[in-house]
Amino acid sequence: MDCDKCSEEAVLYQKYSGLHLCSQHLMESVEGKVKQTLRKHCDIQHGQKIGIALSGGKDSSVLLHIMHQVFGNWPDLKLVCISIDEGITGYRDPSIDMAIETTNALDVEHHVYSFNEEVGYTLDEISNLIGDEKTCRYCGILRRWILNRKSKELDLDKIAIGHNLDDESQSALMNFLDGDIDRMTRLGPEINTKTGFTPRIKPLREVPEREIGLYAKINNKIKAHFDECPYSNWALRQEARKILNQYESNHPGAKYSVLSSVDQIAEKLPQKNIKLQDCKTCGEPTTNTKCRACQLIKNLNKNRQNPSKP
Ligand code: SF4
Ligand SMILES: [Zn+2]
Ligand SMILES: [Zn+2]
Repeated sequence: MDCDKCSEEAVLYQKYSGLHLCSQHLMESVEGKVKQTLRKHCDIQHGQKIGIALSGGKDSSVLLHIMHQVFGNWPDLKLVCISIDEGITGYRDPSIDMAIETTNALDVEHHVYSFNEEVGYTLDEISNLIGDEKTCRYCGILRRWILNRKSKELDLDKIAIGHNLDDESQSALMNFLDGDIDRMTRLGPEINTKTGFTPRIKPLREVPEREIGLYAKINNKIKAHFDECPYSNWALRQEARKILNQYESNHPGAKYSVLSSVDQIAEKLPQKNIKLQDCKTCGEPTTNTKCRACQLIKNLNKNRQNPSKP
């Protein structure tokens, strides 16, 4: 089948748009969506220092590549990559190596921080203490905690994360089924400017995961790690993924509809004025006396001392 925009062979049928696209036109489609999100929602200005959370996986590698393409020649804008090594044997090491190779090739400043040094445990150790089922939750909270602290230390104006359309629509569905509309509104496109948090931007939120994967494979300048995290079999998210993929296949564009619903809800609901205070242990903003990361670390320390009581 030929591309609908030129005579080259198509590599993708974009069911939601009805278009067959060749490699070149798929890349243009992905880049166009990212540039539009950057323009509409990310408010990147001259003189800023923008962080990119880079795991070395396909999403963050594509994110870095396109952001470098857009901003690499702004003389007064600085891109800085942050990688977090959670300590997942056989999975994270090769992806961090790829991340380092990429930032060296693009000449982008890059900092690597590890769970082991920042939290005192690798994720493998955490999983042994608390069980596989809770590992993803711990990982997400601890990673966000490290990312926010380091973003402040590095004086970043914003931090870009590689969440794609599938991630965002899955999170929305999970929050909806959980009855957590507050959390759902936080998925909206407007950047979070609460004091104490470095604003997070998601330039890939309008690009389907499959297209990012293809982009990473087609573009030979991108080195990305494609393996799945061994802990990613988190039941709830896998269920949401399955439901949405099935629904998208029967009703093309469904994931975009979910995203649009989230954006409309976020726009219409007033933001709750949550009172934040400094965590007594680490100083990060929190609604309690101790932030969630410090509570989890306390739990881990307890579990280590008394492994029979989970
Ligand atoms: S899938 Fe879960 S455990 Fe694996 S890196 Fe992501 S958040 Fe961490
Ligand atoms: Zn084409
Ligand atoms: Zn804390």
